[in-house]
Amino acid sequence: MPNQINPQPEIERTVARILSETASKAGAKIAAWKKPTDDLRRLVSHDYVRSLRKNLPYHELRALVAAFSGLLPGFNREVVGIMPTDQLAEWAVALKLHLKAAPNDSIEGMALRGFYVTPKEGLLKRPLIYVNTAHHPLAVSTTFCHEVGHHIGSQILGRNEETAVHFFIDSDYASHLHEPAELAADVMVSIAGYPEPLARKIFATAWEWGLVAKAKNLTEAALAEVQRHLMRAYGFDLVKHIPENQLAHHLSGMIHFAKLRWALLAEYDI
Ligand SMILES: [Zn+2]
Repeated sequence: MPNQINPQPEIERTVARILSETASKAGAKIAAWKKPTDDLRRLVSHDYVRSLRKNLPYHELRALVAAFSGLLPGFNREVVGIMPTDQLAEWAVALKLHLKAAPNDSIEGMALRGFYVTPKEGLLKRPLIYVNTAHHPLAVSTTFCHEVGHHIGSQILGRNEETAVHFFIDSDYASHLHEPAELAADVMVSIAGYPEPLARKIFATAWEWGLVAKAKNLTEAALAEVQRHLMRAYGFDLVKHIPENQLAHHLSGMIHFAKLRWALLAEYDI
């Protein structure tokens, strides 16, 4: 498996520079990574419908889903499987993106899942995605999907990108709930993992529905459903596959993407 998919010197230099700047530029997010249970606590009690309503209007969601469906014909009908690195590289070519997939496994390096860089940064001719392959393959695929979400979002929503580099720091999901571009990217991950027919099954039976759409309290039964789904669809077992010091981060991710999917169904019926 090639680690260096895109060995052009300009890409290598840009990735190396951004990696060396991660600690200073994403300092607050890395601080959050060091306290994963704080993030977890915030996510567990948060009403995701409120965040969706505020940060991702329905027409934007439809446009994003349509664009993803163009790329992945089964999107929101079937689970998007784990994509090995060479498949990510093919995607990157189709999307006219630079891709760098390489491990960054130092202690703080593990905080970083990846980043998306707009061409505003440096001398890049195309946007660039970096994914940290030191993480579990499911996490790597998820990161890639999140970064493609940024890319598609900036292309079709015509958002004026304020930041040239979007860092994806593990277990910093609480902050994504207030950042429209991050939330939109996470929504694409959520739909990839929980296509509509499956979401209707999991979230209609396992969660309580009220008159007013809300996505707040996750029951134990619902979490068990989510874990069963991840096992069936990806052969993924949180406790078995994730080292103990990353468990809380991954549990955060699991709860975040599940609650987001539930909120999409509750608020937008998608
Ligand atoms: Zn992001």
